[in-house]
Amino acid sequence: MPRKSPRARRRTDPSSRLPGGRRPRVAPGRSRAKARRSGAHPGIASHAQGARRAASRSKAGRGRRPAPQARRARFAPPDPARVTALLEQLERLYPQATTALAFRDPLELLVATILSAQCTDERVNQVTPALFERYPDAAALAAARVADLEALIRPTGFFRAKTRSIRACCAEIVSRHGGQVPRTLEELTALHGVGRKTANVVLGNAFGIPGIVVDTHVGRLARRLDLTDQVDPVKVEHALMPIVPRERWSRFSHWLILHGRRVCVARRPRCSICPLAPHCPRVGVTDSQ
Ligand code: SF4
Repeated sequence: MPRKSPRARRRTDPSSRLPGGRRPRVAPGRSRAKARRSGAHPGIASHAQGARRAASRSKAGRGRRPAPQARRARFAPPDPARVTALLEQLERLYPQATTALAFRDPLELLVATILSAQCTDERVNQVTPALFERYPDAAALAAARVADLEALIRPTGFFRAKTRSIRACCAEIVSRHGGQVPRTLEELTALHGVGRKTANVVLGNAFGIPGIVVDTHVGRLARRLDLTDQVDPVKVEHALMPIVPRERWSRFSHWLILHGRRVCVARRPRCSICPLAPHCPRVGVTDSQ
């Protein structure tokens, strides 16, 4: 006896026919669900049946409420005495902390900071002398040939995107600020390729205007030290601003960056030799050395 095709089998199966002559969809799971919602299929519960079942289910489960979702505990601001102790210890540990990027003026620092994205400061410092020798100001960088600029900054990685940022940023510095790097966070962050982190680096190190730089080290240490529970860099910055005295904002960033590189490394922080240990709750640290 010849085997029937699936289509032929559906035709002969009376339960596969919907009352209105409509056939169920080919996808079985979806068609049943749809039919159940519409109540159109003879073998599937109607709305009234569904309501009765739901009522009986709710009777059976009366008194058994689903457990409420565990709420995230509210973050308590850190004890000011502990923060003071941390700051004093950090100042003792890193009295000369400053940026490792080499620069002679605000423009050089701005360009070097753009180049330092996803790159070490040492590598940037190897590239910038030749770069600034050839393009000494914002107008020269804005007018630089793309291929020439790309070739010079290639060792820093992401050289195409960085070339675009440097040229566009310098063109805006020339057109809007007469070739001088602006001195406010708002004006700096309005420049192409300049975010809050870069702007705060320039403000703090080139102009002496306090700003908290939140990079990966600062964010990680701020959470481990229980100074904030925020993850977003802008939120971390706003959480740190009220608990660190303003005159220490820029140095505080350098302290945490150095401590994050040398001791409180991302994987297995060196808690056993860490001078901050007496004041550190080590939030989120599961393995240390
Ligand atoms: S005690 Fe551990 S977690 Fe805390 S700052 Fe030091 S190295 Fe980091």
